[in-house]
Amino acid sequence: MPELAYLNGQIMPVEKAMVPVDDRGYLFGDAVYEYIASYGGRLFRMDDHIRRLENSLRGLDFPPVDPERVRQAVSDLLEAGKMERAGIYIQISRGVEPRNHAFSNQGPVQVVMTVRPLPDVHPHLEKGAAVMTAEDFRWGRCDIKTVQILPNCLAKQKAVDNGLYDAIFVSGEKIVREATSSNVFIVADGKVLTHPLTNNILPGITRKVVLEICRDKGIPAAEEFFDTQRLQAADEVFLSGTTTEVLPVVAVDGRRIADGQAGSVTMKLYGELRRLAGA
Ligand code: PLP
Repeated sequence: MPELAYLNGQIMPVEKAMVPVDDRGYLFGDAVYEYIASYGGRLFRMDDHIRRLENSLRGLDFPPVDPERVRQAVSDLLEAGKMERAGIYIQISRGVEPRNHAFSNQGPVQVVMTVRPLPDVHPHLEKGAAVMTAEDFRWGRCDIKTVQILPNCLAKQKAVDNGLYDAIFVSGEKIVREATSSNVFIVADGKVLTHPLTNNILPGITRKVVLEICRDKGIPAAEEFFDTQRLQAADEVFLSGTTTEVLPVVAVDGRRIADGQAGSVTMKLYGELRRLAGA
């Protein structure tokens, strides 16, 4: 099926969708986004994604956006795309007005979406991912899903240039935060750990689902700070995200994690996530 775009109420081929040069998202990165995946034609955790989108809009003091309108547009686009396994990207910018740092907030906001097919299985699942750490030089509100993710792009590119899958952001004190487009977990002494929800990480929907699975399956889990030393010494490390799903990390900064294979807790969580998603 062709890749489709939604632009302020209209669905069209992606290459036909254009935004004006005065769009504040284009000029200032003054826009928020979401990314939702479908499995077997059904959107996974749509409500959570819409709620996070509302939080992001509120966090940037955007003019009101009707969440029902967004939800309907997402469903229409998925249906028009006729893809069973797809990723829907949603971007809402504050709108279009002559370039000025201050904004009128008079709207209308610009709503842009695309639908594209996703692979059934993540290309790095089988062998696991090798990653590097990178000092976190992003802004102080990483909990808001804005399109201003240039530091994430640069860190990802550096990883790729080094033949690696991704980079994990760490604080000046070596606290492990998150990867460039996923959250980070370790398994240590039988316990699953991930960074607590603060302004320094995105509240990942998959992160939330993983913690729910742990609770439901009786796997000990906690939201706790841990540093790079514990990361390196962990029994298992994995990433979580909408396209990343649950992805084993087998090496960090050139050193193997445990025996360098995907861990059993990681793969159990992966299986449960896919089952919940209806894969
Ligand atoms: N952290 C960052 C920086 C991200 O960009 C993403 C997803 O885009 C995530 C974590 C994972 O979030 P989710 O599980 O909602 O996809």
